[in-house]
Amino acid sequence: MSDEKNNAYEVVIGLEVHAHLWTKSKMFCACPRPRRSGLKPNTQTCPVCLGMPGVLPLINEEALTAALEAALALK
Ligand SMILES: [Zn+2]
Repeated sequence: MSDEKNNAYEVVIGLEVHAHLWTKSKMFCACPRPRRSGLKPNTQTCPVCLGMPGVLPLINEEALTAALEAALALK
């Protein structure tokens, strides 16, 4: 393989991290988080978390604050 072919691509490696924030309610509605409330998944739902047409999700301020704190802590 020639040097020209070796330089044809640049390797870029990124990380995507998913985390559960310990909030009282879900991210976009006021429904309690099932794991925190001890209830089974998919039992605490509303039109917003079911993605029904015409609903207006609102961001959970507690989750936003926790996410920003985590981002700042992790730089
Ligand atoms: Zn909901």
